[in-house]
Amino acid sequence: MTGHPFDRDHVWHPYAALPPALPAWEVRGASGVHIELADGHRLIDGMASWWSVIHGYNHPVLNRALHQQADRFAHVMFGGLTHAPAIRLAETLVDITPTPLECVFFADSGSVAVEVAIKMAIQYWHAAGKPAKQKLLTIRNGYHGDTFGAMAVCDPVNGMHSLFTGVLPQHFFADAPRCPPDEPWDPEDIVSLRTLAEQHHDEIAAIILEPVVQGAGGMRFYHPQYVAEARRICDAFDLLLILDEIATGFGRSGRLFACEHAGIAPDILCLGKALTGGYMTLATTLATRRVADTICGGDPGLFMHGPTFMANPLACAVANASIGLLLEQDWQAEIRRIEAGLRKGLEACADLPAVADVRVMGAIGVVELKEPVDMPSIQPRFVEAGVWVRPFGKLVYVMPPYVIRDDELAFLTGAITKVVAGLQG
Ligand code: PMP
Repeated sequence: MTGHPFDRDHVWHPYAALPPALPAWEVRGASGVHIELADGHRLIDGMASWWSVIHGYNHPVLNRALHQQADRFAHVMFGGLTHAPAIRLAETLVDITPTPLECVFFADSGSVAVEVAIKMAIQYWHAAGKPAKQKLLTIRNGYHGDTFGAMAVCDPVNGMHSLFTGVLPQHFFADAPRCPPDEPWDPEDIVSLRTLAEQHHDEIAAIILEPVVQGAGGMRFYHPQYVAEARRICDAFDLLLILDEIATGFGRSGRLFACEHAGIAPDILCLGKALTGGYMTLATTLATRRVADTICGGDPGLFMHGPTFMANPLACAVANASIGLLLEQDWQAEIRRIEAGLRKGLEACADLPAVADVRVMGAIGVVELKEPVDMPSIQPRFVEAGVWVRPFGKLVYVMPPYVIRDDELAFLTGAITKVVAGLQG
């Protein structure tokens, strides 16, 4: 396997060297839960293309929505113009997200949705007459995107902040939550966050968190009460709460939005990834009316952001179709079925010498190893075993499309167990 020579020598892939240590596999098709490589090899996809392809690839309903919109118009600028796909999507999002969120900003990617959320929080306090509140408070092991504003609230170590000292804004980092979701709540867990809020609230605009599931920063699950406590801290110390549900949104954790586990609502919510069923890039930042009114009541009376491809009609049309598909089925039952399949299938990994921990929540399964994986050697083994699993660091993890059948899930977890069993303890 040498990869495509032009791709290998000229094309950057995510977090990769050029040329990469391991060339990328070329895909010639993808359908349902399968990815088909250029050599005809078919893989069961464990990644849902990084949380997003919840209905599987090449879905007829999503294809139709895309084609129909393409035949009407593919894009118009959103400055001064609007269109039915965006209006319908905004209505749906206001309807299905926690009640006080009713103002929708369409962004072009998850990272941009986070940038927008941060700008909203800073503009909010500027308009509210507290312009010194410009910093953010977050937790270690978080991941919020790769642009500068978003990167500045990612885990400082994983996010390689040392490379960008002097350029990245400096924020406040509390200890990562430790209390697991299935154990009794430990009030000690919130002390670090509360202490930083107490000490620095005059300069903090918002707390930003991935609720209950920390994704790319460590694949960690934590107690919903932590999120509820964070809400309380925000209310007590005049901070906005930004929840980043770019990974957890649309059912992945077992609730439509992970903040529902905590029974609270944020002031600002970021969504992305599964929003379009993984068809194309689109994200949103939702805010409460209070946030919007305060921003627009201040100087200059506008929210200062507006990308060229804002609310792209193709993306909005496919997002409408994707949300429709999700909500018309008993998706909770599907997530419970996948959760049970992941628990059963990954159980045997816990006894393997190379494994430190196995954890499952909703349709997310994680096998944490004792040592970081060697990607150039492990990745081909997954492909040979017939699955697409892309580990990072010590983490072998899956979040398959919700359409994965029980036998396919058993094949996926069986392949993971086999490959991990081959690693040195
Ligand atoms: N926030 C979270 C929680 C994410 O998981 C991601 C993507 N991994 C992002 C933000 C950034 O999204 P994007 O890659 O679309 O910019």
